[in-house]
Amino acid sequence: MALGKGYDRQDCAFARALELLGERWTLLIVRDAFYGVRRYGDFLAHLDAPRAVLSQRLAALVEAGVLERRQYQDAPVRHEYALTSRGEELWPVIYTLGRWGERHLVTEPYRYFHHTTCGSRLDPAGSCPTCARWAPPAEIEVRPGPAADRSRTDPVSVALHEPHRLLARLL
Ligand SMILES: [Zn+2]
Repeated sequence: MALGKGYDRQDCAFARALELLGERWTLLIVRDAFYGVRRYGDFLAHLDAPRAVLSQRLAALVEAGVLERRQYQDAPVRHEYALTSRGEELWPVIYTLGRWGERHLVTEPYRYFHHTTCGSRLDPAGSCPTCARWAPPAEIEVRPGPAADRSRTDPVSVALHEPHRLLARLL
């Protein structure tokens, strides 16, 4: 028997969210959108996802209201993707999952996250210890950590070798 696509029998909002966000690549697309990746070709080069899969995932995120698809060029017509306010609400999920991975699955951090207001590094819950408050993504700068892979040459990886404010256009 083929596996069903969703978790229809789970009466749980977590299962509803996973039907969208639990698909392979989807949370990596959302992560890259926080890094300021906007264009299809940049997602493609950074994620190494199959084209058809990337297109499907982007369309699903647009349909769910997580990403907004906007035209940014007339001739030829080109579109880009940006997080909506609903999408920006996913920041704690991305951040917390990454810190969990750092604690249990890797030896050194790939990236650090700092509060732009004061420069302090955020704590594992995403709060600034200096300002004593949670930092929204627009106030966070991502910086390369000791495990950052500097051998990658796609435009997104190269741009992330420098500190970058989340949500601001990367390329
Ligand atoms: Zn701070």
